[in-house]
Amino acid sequence: MKIVSAKAEYIRYQSRMVRDGEGHSHPGKPHEAKVGFLTIVCDDGTEGHAVDGNMLVDVLNRVVAPAIIGEDPFMHEHIWQRMRTWQRLHSDFTDRTLCALDLALWDICGKKCGVPVYKLLGGYKDKVPAYGSIMVGDDIKGGLDTPEAYAEFAKKLVAKGYKAIKLHTWMPPIIPNPDPKLDVKACQMVRDAVGPDIALMLDPYHDYTREQALYIADALYELGFLWMEEPMDEHSMSSYVWLNSHTRLPICGPETVEGKNRTRADWIAAGASDIGRAGTEVTGGITSVMKSAHLYESFGMNIELHGNTIGNLHVLGAIPNGEYFERGLLHPLLDYETPKPWFKSIYDPMDENGFVSIPSVPGLGWDFDYDYIKDNIVV
Ligand code: MG
Repeated sequence: MKIVSAKAEYIRYQSRMVRDGEGHSHPGKPHEAKVGFLTIVCDDGTEGHAVDGNMLVDVLNRVVAPAIIGEDPFMHEHIWQRMRTWQRLHSDFTDRTLCALDLALWDICGKKCGVPVYKLLGGYKDKVPAYGSIMVGDDIKGGLDTPEAYAEFAKKLVAKGYKAIKLHTWMPPIIPNPDPKLDVKACQMVRDAVGPDIALMLDPYHDYTREQALYIADALYELGFLWMEEPMDEHSMSSYVWLNSHTRLPICGPETVEGKNRTRADWIAAGASDIGRAGTEVTGGITSVMKSAHLYESFGMNIELHGNTIGNLHVLGAIPNGEYFERGLLHPLLDYETPKPWFKSIYDPMDENGFVSIPSVPGLGWDFDYDYIKDNIVV
């Protein structure tokens, strides 16, 4: 089996999401946006896909496609390792772009074998509890503008079946000076609103000082939170070693720092977090996240996966040491359950008990609307 073509394109669509100056998403006026769509075709006609707003179409077509034509998609690790080393001197070859290649290859292998990807990866469970991941705070009336708004929204999420909720609180440019006391107030009000039996987590501003991070962590320990993630710049691992040694609250990380599974190894060795973190988009695909997951398991640690990607769902279906699927981001003024226009259905519907099933069809299980995609390719 050989790869005969690989092509990445952009699909246009109407978005209601706008990004603020720091890159966080909020509801906004409808506008045209585009999402990347990768197709890899093999000589027997099997096709694999990836779709993501952050893959770099130019890099996939210019750097990756010529390198993989003629390769056997089942020599997946070999392809991934070769592309990983190419990232060093192709500074625009991001981990999200590597992830797109990785997902499309896993999609092909699953389809060819007639099994969902999580079973190819090992197969451990067929469903996973979700946490409702609330969007970053804003200044929108009816949105997430006050601690009270978070509490009201959290009650609605519990009524929908969520057994766990994560808050993202206020960051610049929404508020120029992030406020640890305001974060704790929102967490306190959400805890009061949902009661003691709902698992809660916090992902606050990512550039607090050590003292600010410790203040929040100790307050969250008293509120029975499950973890806090990324309250400081993750490039300072020593700050996380310091925080982790000063608080009893579990610290989850690293999320965004570069280096894939190798950075995770260093954080484990340093004792910089209690719960590991990775995600298919931010660390180069399923292949990298599986390496991290097994590493954490070997050290008796759980890994919690960043983002609502289909790749993360398959990883969670293949490992014993990942507890939750991050479902979101959720906002009072947005409907998460409606599929994006390039899908016929969402891949992560949640049942009334708060569980998401791992897609069970061969491959990754994306339910594409190929007519929409064909009609909206940006040329
Ligand atoms: Mg995070």
